[in-house]
Amino acid sequence: MKCNIDGEFSNGELQRFGNIEVSPSAGVLNYGQGLFEGLKAYRKKDGSNILLFRPEENAIRMRNGAERMCMPAPTIEQFVEAVKKTVLANKRWVPPSGKGSLYVRPLLMGTGAVLGLAPAPEYTFLIYVSPVGNYFKEGVAPINLIVESEFHRATPGGTGGVKTIGNYAAVLKAQSIAKAKGYSDVLYLDCVYNRFLEEVSSCNIFIVKDNVISTPEIKGTILPGITRKSIIDVARTQGFQVEERNVTVDELLEADEVFCTGTAVVVSPVGSITYKGKRVSYGEGTFGTVSKQLYTVLTSLQMGLSEDNMKWTVNLS
Ligand code: PMP
Repeated sequence: MKCNIDGEFSNGELQRFGNIEVSPSAGVLNYGQGLFEGLKAYRKKDGSNILLFRPEENAIRMRNGAERMCMPAPTIEQFVEAVKKTVLANKRWVPPSGKGSLYVRPLLMGTGAVLGLAPAPEYTFLIYVSPVGNYFKEGVAPINLIVESEFHRATPGGTGGVKTIGNYAAVLKAQSIAKAKGYSDVLYLDCVYNRFLEEVSSCNIFIVKDNVISTPEIKGTILPGITRKSIIDVARTQGFQVEERNVTVDELLEADEVFCTGTAVVVSPVGSITYKGKRVSYGEGTFGTVSKQLYTVLTSLQMGLSEDNMKWTVNLS
């Protein structure tokens, strides 16, 4: 059975950022009926225009998530229009080119009251924004990851493949332990064999071996990252062979280069991986050659510094 995602959303209004009121028995508070998205707006170098990166992809992902969570969702047009309207209303908060971006956070949640376990009777879609700089304190320098063997973020048949709030609750403990030990973040393994790479708490993972790029395939337990998809296309147009397949932790440890992708992290090189107490380092504290090339092509496109042959950016003026 398919859940019906075609609800009715009234035309949204702009409101000053502030608290919102919900019933204590709202679906989102009791049964985790919540989805979110994340995308960025960049200011062009001459300061004139603002660019959004593939907002319709976020709309599609939210709709796919809504189907899994039995929620109604805005149409692609409603979603993109709402993003544009919110960003334009907050134009002055978009940092100058090269100094960061405006992070855009759409939320969809069950705000109707429900006591017995069931989808909520009403939903709210809202968007808030915040200027951001680099995600990791390392900046664009290599990050240090620990491979997690005890905790998992997703199970086959679960909700790991959609951007629902509960997936993030599942990683808080492992992430806190890792950060307290000085690691940048956690890399999760599959929960059946505990040996195939899944993803990092908030980004996808790639390895490079002999110039071939590999990344875990999408099969319901990892988020289909929009940056992941874009990097695969960029890499292929740059002449690289890219494989989406099961990648083992042994291959990770023997890779020439490792990097992560995500809206927040963009393309972040991995400097070291620790697995079962053993630490493996990559490169010499710098970007790997392949990840640097992909980073440059992607960010030039996102910031409007190169011709957008892919037609991925949406121009707001
Ligand atoms: N995996 C997870 C768990 C994430 O939270 C994110 C960030 N949205 C990603 C991967 C990367 O997705 P995207 O490139 O669309 O930001």
